[in-house]
Amino acid sequence: MIPYGKHTLFPDDIDAVTQVLEQGFLTQGQQVPAFERALCEYTGAAFAVACNSGTSGLHIACLAAGVTSGDVVWTVPNSFAASANCGRYCGAEVDFVDIDPVTRNLCTASLVDKLHFAAAENKIPKVIIVVHFAGSSCDMAEIAAITEPFGITLIEDAAHALGAKDAQGHIVGAGRFSAMTVLSFHPVKSITSAEGGAVLTNDDELAALLRRYASHGITRDPNMLGDAHQDEPWFYAQFELGFNYRLSDVHAALGLSQLKHLDSFVARRYTLAQVYHKALADLPVIRPVLDPNSAWHLYMIELTKHDRKQVFNELRERGVGVNVHYIPIHLHPYYQQLGFRPGQFPNAEHYYRRALTLPLFPALSADNQMEVITQLSEVLS
Ligand SMILES: *Cc1c(COP(=O)(O)O)cnc(C)c1O
Repeated sequence: MIPYGKHTLFPDDIDAVTQVLEQGFLTQGQQVPAFERALCEYTGAAFAVACNSGTSGLHIACLAAGVTSGDVVWTVPNSFAASANCGRYCGAEVDFVDIDPVTRNLCTASLVDKLHFAAAENKIPKVIIVVHFAGSSCDMAEIAAITEPFGITLIEDAAHALGAKDAQGHIVGAGRFSAMTVLSFHPVKSITSAEGGAVLTNDDELAALLRRYASHGITRDPNMLGDAHQDEPWFYAQFELGFNYRLSDVHAALGLSQLKHLDSFVARRYTLAQVYHKALADLPVIRPVLDPNSAWHLYMIELTKHDRKQVFNELRERGVGVNVHYIPIHLHPYYQQLGFRPGQFPNAEHYYRRALTLPLFPALSADNQMEVITQLSEVLS
């Protein structure tokens, strides 16, 4: 089976991990800060806080934004459940903004409408989690212009988008229009640390808060401990109810090594996307917008004339590991039990019914991609 996504490891990645295993600190050593510095250098963000998954990154980002019970958090239905769950972890009420049918990213017209109604009901969200679906950046400048008058904090869920640029050429993660950007290093994402994530920010206070939330709420910062503890080198203090969300040095070493390959990974993904784009032009499918600035996490098509279930199962039988992104979050039983109903976000639901993700990852060979194209063409003919 040709998988839909897969990590690519080089010998230098493996060496980086074995070196850490042989040389000392498995956690809380120098690999994590080195990885954080490298993420800052790559993205242009001032601060990076590594954590043990993208999901824990989303959680501490919501906590650092001050999300608590009684607050409202919005995201899009066309994402992985973690984009919404992070608000629920903090006790917030979660709601969704429908997607744009062309970009499949947050629809700014829906956002404007929904804010209008929310203002009338006094339920303006504290935070909006903006997802860069498939690695193609949302128009953050526009979203920031819409949300700023309401004092909303923007968190970018860039789990798909490390290595992407926005339409103006700003690197995703630089944070020009958001408070924080969350990355994931799960094996199917742009680069991997096995499991892992990071939160980027340009705000030193948010960075300190994120760091504490990822490590029990504890700090050893002398400025926070006060004069009474100056001569007590053992002393530390817990200020918030934090978690152990730290990334280990073993994982950080892998992430740091992988970061060197990021640009070539993204370039390869874009090349493969261009091949699909050309090859699928005459098939009864809607192709994704060929965004040259995307990180190309996914290549997804919409079937316009065929039954998705049938096509999906036939391709799997033919050895093509297609997938579907995403089951709209509000349709999961957990969110249904909170009161959401089918039909509430029609663009996301319509897209979901017809969506099919084709294999796309840096190590996908030209032959295997041709096999995917041939099998898909046959199934659709
Ligand atoms: C992968 C992913 C996450 C979660 O990242 P993990 O590192 O797997 O916890 C969050 N949001 C989106 C959109 C993702 O694709």
